[in-house]
Amino acid sequence: MRNRKNLFHALNSPYLAENGSFTVQSLPTTPPAGSQGSNKDYKRKLNKIVRELQVLQPVLYASGTRAVLMIFQAMDAAGKDSTIRAVMTGINPAGCKVYSFKTPSERELAHDFLWRTYQCMPEKGRIGIFNRSYYEEVLVVRVHPEMLDSQNLALRPGLKTLWRERYQSICDMERHLARNGTVILKFWLNVSQEEQKRRFMRRLHKKEKHWKWSPADLEEREYWPDYMEAYEQMIRATSKPWAPWYTIPADNKPFMHYSVAKIVKATLQSLGLEYPKPDAGTHRHLADARKQLQGD
Ligand code: ATP
Ligand code: MG
Repeated sequence: MRNRKNLFHALNSPYLAENGSFTVQSLPTTPPAGSQGSNKDYKRKLNKIVRELQVLQPVLYASGTRAVLMIFQAMDAAGKDSTIRAVMTGINPAGCKVYSFKTPSERELAHDFLWRTYQCMPEKGRIGIFNRSYYEEVLVVRVHPEMLDSQNLALRPGLKTLWRERYQSICDMERHLARNGTVILKFWLNVSQEEQKRRFMRRLHKKEKHWKWSPADLEEREYWPDYMEAYEQMIRATSKPWAPWYTIPADNKPFMHYSVAKIVKATLQSLGLEYPKPDAGTHRHLADARKQLQGD
């Protein structure tokens, strides 16, 4: 794909889903073998990046020309919440908003499937985080196509066509956003089925985790192969240079947090943003204001 100067381009990362040739089984859920890091190291490296993000985010805000959209998708208990918390912990809340998308309401279902999320897109200078997103429309809905019955669809082509058209709508919208200054980062937190079981067990045994439990979590686990197929098709169809998917190993949380933070930092740095430079007129106003205050 031809790079365009004004269009954000994906960074090199071992976790970038670059083309349509991978299978989800080939993607790691654990840190690379022989990687030097202990959990303590990953946490230390994360803290350093968090401090660097604290410096980068105000420049994004002040320059006011780019928005950043981060999308998180994953199986239950993969760690979407903890990753968002760990990576964004130092960010000024005034410049960042998190949206969690749950089962759509009747009002939302009365619109097209992109409507509810489009209204939440970050404005220029801001970071928008989607905890689940319009991608649910080609994930949970693909695994449970009976959900389409409540979507008030005017046209109901065969399922293969319907998913293809949804991928197309998503790619078109993301291309439009990218062309208009939104930098899009999409993270699939790739947890293994065994690790999910361990985390569910912990939720069931820890009192303070009980509120997180939903019987639906176990029901959805039964559909694991169908979800993996849906993720594979979705990532193949929608990972683009201007809206890349990063498939992050999620079995080790400190490594996952660090890996996401590293990509976010590198992306912000790659934009080469600067604080707006005052022009000659502004310099004069500043000098006048200094003089005026001194004489006060
Ligand atoms: P937690 O980590 O707390 O479990 P969660 O993101 O899983 O967080 P839940 O309230 O447990 O939040 O689940 C939200 C549910 O809403 C998920 O099962 C998801 O598949 C579903 N959902 C989200 N978007 C859609 C959609 N467009 N159509 C149908 N279901 C959706
Ligand atoms: Mg859940």
